[in-house]
Amino acid sequence: MSDLAIAARQTGTRPHVSFEFFPPKNETMDERLWECVRRLEPMQPDFVSVTYGAGGSTRTRTHDTVSRLANETSLTAAAHLTCVSATKDDVLQTAEDYWQAGVRHIVALRGDSPDGMGQPWRQTDGGFKNVIELVEALRAHRPDLGKVFEVSVACYPEPHPDSRGWDFDLAHLKAKQDAGADRAITQFFFEPQIYFEFLDRARNAGITMPIVPGIMLQPNFNGLKKISNLCQATLPDWLHQLYEGLEDDASTRDLITANVAAELCHKLADGGVSQFHFYTLNRANLALSTCHLLGLKPAREAEAA
Ligand code: FAD
Repeated sequence: MSDLAIAARQTGTRPHVSFEFFPPKNETMDERLWECVRRLEPMQPDFVSVTYGAGGSTRTRTHDTVSRLANETSLTAAAHLTCVSATKDDVLQTAEDYWQAGVRHIVALRGDSPDGMGQPWRQTDGGFKNVIELVEALRAHRPDLGKVFEVSVACYPEPHPDSRGWDFDLAHLKAKQDAGADRAITQFFFEPQIYFEFLDRARNAGITMPIVPGIMLQPNFNGLKKISNLCQATLPDWLHQLYEGLEDDASTRDLITANVAAELCHKLADGGVSQFHFYTLNRANLALSTCHLLGLKPAREAEAA
């Protein structure tokens, strides 16, 4: 067990967590999301975020989900927003709609090309040139009220498919920080040294904002292989071996997924990390198991202890 988990259990020191959801497509998925939200709410995450479909395809569903989270739960809700297939005015109108709904945190992204993931990035006519422009615009939104959006951005401990090398990538991330980003959340990874090497590179490049590790909770290994392939995240051999032969055994895959995530978090915590962002895939059991393995208790239990 990591120092963080021992401390969490003995002294009540809480690791900081955030949870990422995707907007539901139908009634069944809607029920699953809200059950997930109800079960994770007592873990008192710093925030929860809701993804934006590729090409802006979930604009309304993302908006409705984030607004409900902001208005019907005790959670701090964040909305993912991309620069894809929308003019600057459209994107800023969406941001204003969030503002009106009480949402004050945006996860700002360039997004994938409107021609599809893996295709070269193409700016929309009248749209933002890149995510730096979007971060600047969000930070400039509503300063008249003395408040602006909190902004998180993405970063890539293993180079993104569009990467032209570390020098550009780090300068680009620094530019997101200089434009006003408050934190960066990483793409998922499975080996702690991938995160720590990236953290060293980032700090040496003058990036001082928190770099929160994104922890994947995908128990469907075939699905994980597909997405890893697309975003070029390494799946180590040991991970292939762990899931081998479990194609028809979902419950054992769940146990393995939570244990792999918790072990990764423990190793990150041993290196000083105390904030974790979980890609929950709207599955409460995996996020809850991982949190418990990290020593994070639901708020009421933690108070009584
Ligand atoms: P950027 O960081 O701007 O760029 C990605 C890479 O390309 C970086 O390596 C950068 O250095 C390089 N690059 C950018 N511009 C140039 C240039 N001009 N020349 C050379 N290299 C360049 N996608 C969605 O559609 N919806 C979501 O809700 C969503 N949520 C996400 C949340 C997180 C935490 C993460 C990590 C990713 C998420 N994505 C989401 C995926 C993301 O949209 C894609 O990875 C997209 O391709 C890049 O967006 P970005 O903002 O990270 O881009």
